[in-house]
Amino acid sequence: MSAVKQEQKCLAHAIQEYCGCNVFVCYQCGRCSAGCPVAFAFDWQPRQLIRLIQLDRWADVLAAHTPWLCASCLTCAARCPQGLDVAKVMDAIRMLVRQEGCPIPEPVVEAFHTTFLDMIRQRGRQHELSLMARFKLRGGGLGKDVPLGVRMLGKGKLRLSGQRAGQGGVLARIFAQAGGKPK
Ligand code: SF4
Ligand code: SF4
Repeated sequence: MSAVKQEQKCLAHAIQEYCGCNVFVCYQCGRCSAGCPVAFAFDWQPRQLIRLIQLDRWADVLAAHTPWLCASCLTCAARCPQGLDVAKVMDAIRMLVRQEGCPIPEPVVEAFHTTFLDMIRQRGRQHELSLMARFKLRGGGLGKDVPLGVRMLGKGKLRLSGQRAGQGGVLARIFAQAGGKPK
């Protein structure tokens, strides 16, 4: 993690630069945490994570597993009486972790996101069989789900061949605008 950056910039402001959210509107009512369907798996509840940001606790926030387990369902944003989009804050934390070069707290989740986006970038849509094969190669556990995959193939739930969608140029422009590197 960049110690210089931590000294120079307030974490809340760094988050606001990424996603436009002002965490200081939060008054800790807890409605976001109470409604979150994934809260049981988090190390910090959404409400607690927002408080850590207010307190400028860089190390705790960048090491938190919560943003990587968040399902981006937006329940928290819909429930917040202050209109704080907590899901956007989760996005911003993930971006900051990567920008600061910190260890990814949930590398398997990150491997899935990267694999998913790579496939969209290349094909314009998903092909589940290729997605899972590439994900397993990247995230480990290659042989773990083979029996399940074979059963799904047999039931027609997975297709051997995939389709492409969209035009390469359009996809490249979308990724370029979103900050990704077109391949
Ligand atoms: S967006 Fe994330 S933090 Fe918010 S309710 Fe859904 S899973 Fe929980
Ligand atoms: S619902 Fe909004 S105000 Fe309440 S704790 Fe969550 S982020 Fe803060």
